[in-house]
Amino acid sequence: MSELHKFLFDGLPVRGAIVRLTDAWTEILARRAANTATGAWPPPVAELLGEMAAAGALMQSNIKFNGALVLQVFGDGPVKVAVCEVQHDLSLRATAKVMGDVGVSDRLPQLVNVHHQGRCVITLDPKDKFPGQQPYQGVVPLNSIEGHKLTKLSEVLQHYMLQSEQLDTTLVLAADAKVAAGLLIQRLPLEGEGNLAGSMVSRENEAEIGVNEDYNRISILASSLKREELLELDVDTILRRLFWEEKVLRFEPQRPRFACTCSRERVGNMIRGLGREEAESILAERGVIEVGCDFCGQQYRFDPVDAAQLFTSPGDQPPVTSAVQ
Ligand SMILES: [Zn+2]
Repeated sequence: MSELHKFLFDGLPVRGAIVRLTDAWTEILARRAANTATGAWPPPVAELLGEMAAAGALMQSNIKFNGALVLQVFGDGPVKVAVCEVQHDLSLRATAKVMGDVGVSDRLPQLVNVHHQGRCVITLDPKDKFPGQQPYQGVVPLNSIEGHKLTKLSEVLQHYMLQSEQLDTTLVLAADAKVAAGLLIQRLPLEGEGNLAGSMVSRENEAEIGVNEDYNRISILASSLKREELLELDVDTILRRLFWEEKVLRFEPQRPRFACTCSRERVGNMIRGLGREEAESILAERGVIEVGCDFCGQQYRFDPVDAAQLFTSPGDQPPVTSAVQ
């Protein structure tokens, strides 16, 4: 079963979280593999997406925020976009759009950052928005400050968290066909609660970057965790091996799971957003409007009667549309 454990280092300004997505991750892969139109993702793409799923769960669990955390990578290589969405209850879904050939040993630069144009977008979309409220969004390039292409997603996200929260963060991520896992270690803010939206940034926090000895020691231990260990060992063994000299306080584990938020109603709204003319032209050509969900593979079919209802129902107004169903 998928699990996420949060922990604190007793008496030290350092917190951590470790996630192992098993059933939640294999469900995402299986649904993609079952999609006859696309087939399974090439392994390097699945690995990137698995790392995003693990990172997304860790980041969602690390903030006090009721809404969806959406991690997106927009690429200029064969992977055009990779998306992972994690809800407050750690239900999650993920997908990627691949157009072009992927090499077996392709990493971040070859997949999404061929021309230095790739970027990672982190969105916090509150559940109960007040009118006109925009989701918070942060954007980071996939290059280092010196302009070198970063090879690991963890480096990109560490950079983002340092920028947005002014907090040192260490991330170790790994994924294969069975497990997507990650370890996060973060220096605790000196005052107030850190928040990805960066609202509580203080000068004191900034001055502490890179110099806190407790954090630095624990970060070095965390960074020694190898990919195979993260993928194969259970949580207790990993924490014991890495931090056997530290006093670690554990919280009750949480259970991430796969869930898709698509619905017939939302797809209907999207078709309404196309406009009656466009919908009728699709019907004239194909006899039916078919929309498949990229996240879960669910197919939605609207025949001419269904479609006519969409445009004559009381809610017959231009709806707000979303690219994500
Ligand atoms: Zn879906």
